[in-house]
Amino acid sequence: MSHISGQVSSGSLTLLVFAKVWEVLFQFDEFLAEDTRLKGCSRCGGKNLHCSNYARADWGLPRALRGLHPRPGFSCDGCGKRARPAY
Ligand SMILES: [Zn+2]
Repeated sequence: MSHISGQVSSGSLTLLVFAKVWEVLFQFDEFLAEDTRLKGCSRCGGKNLHCSNYARADWGLPRALRGLHPRPGFSCDGCGKRARPAY
């Protein structure tokens, strides 16, 4: 029996679905990060936030997606505290 061209294995389909779901979640991350950056520091009201991303816990992520997208975060220029997007 030969392979039919264009057929996707269930393993590949699962990986594609995971990738699409994570892509959407990463877009939410970017949206929330931009919202946080625009609002500024919630502690001192400073508007100058520096990008300070950090490693994301990769529980449940497929190996192909691990380490690709750090969790967005900022540090405040005024008080030095971390400002993270609220989830
Ligand atoms: Zn601050």
